[in-house]
Amino acid sequence: MEKLSNINTVKEILHKHGFTFSKALGQNFLINPSVCPRMAMECGVDENSGVIEVGPGIGVLTNELAKRAKKVIAVELDKRLLPVLEETLGEYENVKVINEDVMKLDLNKLIEEEFEGMNVCVCANLPYYITSPIVMRLLEEKLNVSSITVMVQKEAAQRICANVGTRQCGAVTAAVWYYSEPELLFNVSSGSFMPAPKVDSAVIRLNIRKEPPVSVKSEEVFFKTIKAAFSQRRKNIANSLSGGLSVGKQEIISVLEDCGIPASKRAEELTLENLGKIADRLCDIII
Ligand code: SAM
Repeated sequence: MEKLSNINTVKEILHKHGFTFSKALGQNFLINPSVCPRMAMECGVDENSGVIEVGPGIGVLTNELAKRAKKVIAVELDKRLLPVLEETLGEYENVKVINEDVMKLDLNKLIEEEFEGMNVCVCANLPYYITSPIVMRLLEEKLNVSSITVMVQKEAAQRICANVGTRQCGAVTAAVWYYSEPELLFNVSSGSFMPAPKVDSAVIRLNIRKEPPVSVKSEEVFFKTIKAAFSQRRKNIANSLSGGLSVGKQEIISVLEDCGIPASKRAEELTLENLGKIADRLCDIII
């Protein structure tokens, strides 16, 4: 369907289906015609690859993906959008819409069943209320995908793509860098959406790593360490690890000494290698 991102077309379709936006589901639909073609182009799909889209809305990005990919699976939670998507995506035989919550869906099984032998990537304008949990789920499941291209709030994009060991780094940043090499692609103004959110957005691409940049004894302990380290950002690393992991402060200080890391440092000053080293030493204590 042509000009799907045109504001009048969007209004017409929504009116025809009696659709009203759900704030709770993060429904801000794209009405800037230049954004979806750019996202679809930069997410790396081609005629041999498959794409998973989270939250197709009325299908504006799905359309652009369907033109370029071999197959698109679009996962939409709001069943009121199904008749809309039937109308807007009807012309594409390579698109399948699944009415599910992306947080509950077995994504590994979906990839196995739907994309046999294809290179697969994820491309989505994410609902903002659940951005980090979705990104973390996509990464932690170790899906067989080559990249994850998502639109998120600009601040979240900056935090996710910040280098580990810098002020903007948080627990999500460290985890994202462990699994991928993030790239901030381009910014999108809030006026590009209907209804317009309060803040601007940005599109990022997470290029999935084949091997993590640090090798750790236990990923479980590594991620527990990261979570604890960043749980109280203003405190020094000795205090935040001691509080977050319920381990005595003296014990933490001696772990840090073993690793050659001053106890006065803050989590945002640590590298992934530092965090990995601490986690490996903590393995004997917290497991
Ligand atoms: N892709 C469309 C666009 O760019 O115009 C819509 C994007 S809108 C920001 C987010 C979409 O995600 C909505 O269609 C919403 O219903 C859907 N959604 C919200 N939570 C979801 C979930 N847990 N699983 C799947 N879809 C979800």
